[in-house]
Amino acid sequence: MGPGEEHAVGHGWQGAVLKLMGAKDFTFTVTGAEQVTEDYRRVRFTDGGLLAAAGIHPTMWVRIWFENAGKPHQRAYTLVDPDQEAGTFSLEFALHDGPASHWARGCAPGDTVEATLQGSGFETPEPRPERLLVVGDAASLPAVNSLLDAHPDLPATIWFETQHASDEELPFRTDPDRHELRRVPRQRSGADLVERVRAELPALAGPEAYVWIACDTATTRALAAYARKELALPKERVHALGYWRPS
Ligand SMILES: Cc1cc2nc3c(=O)[nH]c(=O)nc-3n(C[C@H](O)[C@H](O)[C@H](O)COP(=O)(O)OP(=O)(O)OC[C@H]3O[C@@H](n4cnc5c(N)ncnc54)[C@H](O)[C@@H]3O)c2cc1C
Repeated sequence: MGPGEEHAVGHGWQGAVLKLMGAKDFTFTVTGAEQVTEDYRRVRFTDGGLLAAAGIHPTMWVRIWFENAGKPHQRAYTLVDPDQEAGTFSLEFALHDGPASHWARGCAPGDTVEATLQGSGFETPEPRPERLLVVGDAASLPAVNSLLDAHPDLPATIWFETQHASDEELPFRTDPDRHELRRVPRQRSGADLVERVRAELPALAGPEAYVWIACDTATTRALAAYARKELALPKERVHALGYWRPS
């Protein structure tokens, strides 16, 4: 399910369908928060039993319901530093206008949100890639970081779309010895990023590469089609999921 579909339906029947599909509901409780940059906020939680029940995998994400004007809105967020033993994790919010961002700006210790785990998964690429080729932005930075953490021995090239001057200060877990971060300012609704990746990916995308793409839906779709169709990379070597929908 893409983020657009999450917007199109309400809590009621979608929650019911997810429950029928076996999704579990959890209550997360805020224990603290820090403003990482002007436009990026980290919130710490206790997990309401999620991690003991579900385990942990790279890029793991949950569906959370945020109240706004009396209505619940479901939004996807990625677990940061999940600690199964302690039953804790953080979420990092790229801030803009919207119910989730609004909630993150104002939350305080003791506040709770309801969440469902459904749809998240990760298949370790086989054969093991020789390089990670990653396209992301502030919304997918937590997932990008978890991908890098999970593959400490692999070199990576990361095309990262920036939207704010403060994005320079984002908490990248890149190691300059192994990772190359290529920042691309967001222009023309993501078209600059598409052009840049199209120009630079072929030189790096050998048969053993693993391409991971998560930016806005249209950009993600364009780049996934490019990698799979024009570059003819095998389907299982290209992971792509749109993380947000521009309006
Ligand atoms: C699997 C998955 C994991 C995700 N993990 C994270 C995460 O860890 N951290 C995170 O910050 N986001 C993450 N996202 C993206 C997040 O779910 C969306 O950005 C969501 O739309 C935010 O909800 P909102 O209520 O704040 O804004 P919405 O009500 O959805 O949107 C309000 C306005 O803000 C704009 N907008 C929404 N998102 C962005 C954005 N990222 N940049 C610029 N403008 C935007 C919309 O176009 C709209 O105009 C993830 C998405 C997916 C699918």
